[in-house]
Amino acid sequence: MKKYVYFFGAGAAEGNKDMKDILGGKGANLAEMAGIGLPVPPGFTVSAEVCALFYKNKERLPEAVRHEIEKSLGRLERATGQVFGDAKNPLLVSVRSGARASMPGMMDTILNLGLNEKTVAALIAKTGNARFVYDSYRRFVQMYGDVVLGLKPANKDDIDPFEAIIEDKKHELGVKSDLDLAAGDLKELVSRFKAAIKEKTGYNFPEDPRRQLWGAMEAVFGAWKNDRAIAYRKMYDIPESWGTAVNVQLMVFGNMGNDSGTGVAFTRDAATGEKTFYGEYLMNAQGEDVVAGIRTPLPIAHLKKDNKKVYAELERIRHTLEEHFRDMMDIEFTIQQGKLYMLQCRVGKRTAFAAIKIAVDMVSEKLISEKEALARIEPDQLNQLLRPVFDQAEKDAAIKGGRLLAKGLNAGPGAATGRIVFNSVDAEAWAERGEKVILTRIETSPEDIRGMNAAEGILTARGGMTSHAALVARQMGRVCVAGCSELVIDYGQHVLTVKNRTLRQGDWVSLDGTTGQVIEGKINTKPSEVLQVLIEKTLDRAKAPVYLTFAKIMDWADKFRTLKIRTNADQPDQAANAVAFGAEGIGLCRTEHMFFGQGKIGPMREMILADTLEQRKTALAKLLPLQRQDFAGIFEVMAGRPVTIRTIDPPLHEFLPHEEKEQRELAAEMGLAYENVRERVESLHEFNPMLGFRGCRLGIIYPEITEMQARAIFEAAAAAKKKGIEVEPEVMIPLVGHVKELVDQERLVRRTAEAVMKEQGVTFKYHVGTMIEVPRGAITADEIATVAEFFSFGTNDLTQTTLGVSRDDAGRFLRSYVEKEIYAKDPFEVLDRDGVGQLMRMAVEKGRRARPGLKLGICGEHGGDPSSIQFCHLIGLNYASCSPFRVPIARLAAARAALLNAPAKLGGKAVSARVEAKRPVKKSGAPKKARRAEAKNPARKR
Ligand code: PEP
Ligand code: MG
Repeated sequence: MKKYVYFFGAGAAEGNKDMKDILGGKGANLAEMAGIGLPVPPGFTVSAEVCALFYKNKERLPEAVRHEIEKSLGRLERATGQVFGDAKNPLLVSVRSGARASMPGMMDTILNLGLNEKTVAALIAKTGNARFVYDSYRRFVQMYGDVVLGLKPANKDDIDPFEAIIEDKKHELGVKSDLDLAAGDLKELVSRFKAAIKEKTGYNFPEDPRRQLWGAMEAVFGAWKNDRAIAYRKMYDIPESWGTAVNVQLMVFGNMGNDSGTGVAFTRDAATGEKTFYGEYLMNAQGEDVVAGIRTPLPIAHLKKDNKKVYAELERIRHTLEEHFRDMMDIEFTIQQGKLYMLQCRVGKRTAFAAIKIAVDMVSEKLISEKEALARIEPDQLNQLLRPVFDQAEKDAAIKGGRLLAKGLNAGPGAATGRIVFNSVDAEAWAERGEKVILTRIETSPEDIRGMNAAEGILTARGGMTSHAALVARQMGRVCVAGCSELVIDYGQHVLTVKNRTLRQGDWVSLDGTTGQVIEGKINTKPSEVLQVLIEKTLDRAKAPVYLTFAKIMDWADKFRTLKIRTNADQPDQAANAVAFGAEGIGLCRTEHMFFGQGKIGPMREMILADTLEQRKTALAKLLPLQRQDFAGIFEVMAGRPVTIRTIDPPLHEFLPHEEKEQRELAAEMGLAYENVRERVESLHEFNPMLGFRGCRLGIIYPEITEMQARAIFEAAAAAKKKGIEVEPEVMIPLVGHVKELVDQERLVRRTAEAVMKEQGVTFKYHVGTMIEVPRGAITADEIATVAEFFSFGTNDLTQTTLGVSRDDAGRFLRSYVEKEIYAKDPFEVLDRDGVGQLMRMAVEKGRRARPGLKLGICGEHGGDPSSIQFCHLIGLNYASCSPFRVPIARLAAARAALLNAPAKLGGKAVSARVEAKRPVKKSGAPKKARRAEAKNPARKR
């Protein structure tokens, strides 16, 4: 019979850390900790497979599963010596969800389950602590009311009805803290809570512990498909089919008095990666108090003073966990009357800074190998290192000028400046219209997730380093200042008051997430440390620790990757940036971009407007030296690295003005009649320009254009050669669908090369190849490879033509397509492996069969996307080419593709490419936006 429930505790466990698919992350690690003898309260995990059964069974637990749970409950009773619902020695449990991937704050928890009027009396008799028991009871009724009975407010700005009752009570009593409420007050709160429940739902609060348990479990499974969980899963690519497991565990109490407490900690600093024990705790409190930010917790080091013995044990466990899991762990613990219990451990979320530092440090500590270090850093995380920092002088001036408003916790490093908004709906709406916003909240909750994603930075008045705002911001790579208690935020009035100053919605504020400073007004940002070393060259690398760690990771990546990384660049400065980032060549130089440079658009337009071959040649003669100069600059920067130069590609009308005013100006400049210009522009009009007179078709109809470009390339190559610079240009013909198109252009290019070599008296190597960017090109790749020395996959056009989706017009519907999951991702951003990818695979096979040494690359925007890079590795391309700033990401992605494809021993477990392909790739925020903008309309890049 299939097993659905797994027991853990008392030094043994039926599960282990490798069973996350079944037990969820929380359940698997509870089992592991119990298995290695750490103090874990006993309990059982109901498998994530039950989640699907629950939905199939009309959102009820199937009988067979209930039966198995009953058996485990019996075992738990025997293990603890307590009985569920007993009038003397009652067993109380927690019920928590736990999916395979961690979803911080997304899922629900119910504590103290099993309490009712009868067990409350028993517990008071047993503990002699009525205050503790009623405090536990009111928490239980509150959580149950929120999670199971649906009393949680729907509106983001509304207060939880139970919190409102507590506030009323405190107001009546004239007290400030929850700790000031006596047993009788808490007992009365329970009655008021129950009355509120009756009023809202029409039902009495369930007294029967078994009904409570089934209700709680069904609510936890049911929450898997609530709106916020769905939104979160979408954002992090977590498949719905995974489901959540449910953990039922003996309650231990952090609110049993001043010798009890609860806390959360990271085995290293999650923000900086420093090897320091980092956490917070509260005495006489239950778990939710620390995370929810209701009371401000104490730093973990302070526990040494509160309870030396427990602190020492925690330190021991910290080391045991790091040695055992060989990673930085995030833990939750409870101290019950001086005894320590571990409630959770999981691999800790961390900033990109921390991820890189921890990975590098753990290699030197011999905890992990270089390969494992690489496998632990998501390529997109590197984006965080490339993010801006404040212009220091401007920031200093702002502070000197009295604009420092407050200081909070430095929860998410980096610099952000933007306009204040007070809720997530506004954050999304403002960001959508192009505003930079700082989401400013008293504290955040999972409902704020979309707004947090849309914001540049997040500012909260309450909560610690492990509050929701801090955790989620770090995970998203957002700048975050949390727990800034001096801020007084009025949601109703949309104002923020601090130090007698009032800031309103729309006012500018700047956050330094590295120091925790909140500064009034806008402060310009400047490049990160890595950029200052590599690009601006304003910082000495020896004085740049973040850069040095980054460089180490890059070195390791280069050691293991087999895919070469090139760049798409058409200006010497772009090429220089890319080389600084580690590019090994140029994979695509779009020559048409050069025509927009200084002094070139004029002769270009003259060429297009020419009526005769003679006129066209005259104009081209003006362009020749200008293009030659561009290529010479690129060859110089690339210093012998391969350079692929593509002949003109876009439709000619893109070079002409379309407004009457500009057309008149052009006519005047050229000494032509305005009508002539207008007619010429009109004659170039096409219904489908992307499928029209572009690509190699231009060079075939106007061979003199290709000839001029080839001449410019080869003359620049000859000049470079004479200067002692190695060159080996690769001339690439775009949009080839028929081998004869390529034959036509190839002859022209080769003829020109021979002529230039003769004229210049030098020889140089060169190659002629093509882009594969229309399906016919891929299908007939064997024929094309008889002529082409290399293929470069133009996946922007190949996606457009394979899907029959216009690059220019996809924006209107593609986002909805992705929302409806017709395509899992925007296929212009992440390669459509099943469609476009299959054509590529076919072209690789056919091409290599026809020409064994065929060099293969990709130069569409997908060349900078980690998942697409992995696919390129898998189908055996030689290189990927991407924009300069994505080169480091591509280097790491290529290394990970090689390692995960090996299949190498990673973390003691073989990981195959197949596994990697299915793994959720976390999306990082800002860079994604940038990529979207690039990918949304790649055609417009022209
Ligand atoms: C492509 O189509 O993928 C490509 C690189 O060319 P362009 O974007 O210039 O059409
Ligand atoms: Mg193209």
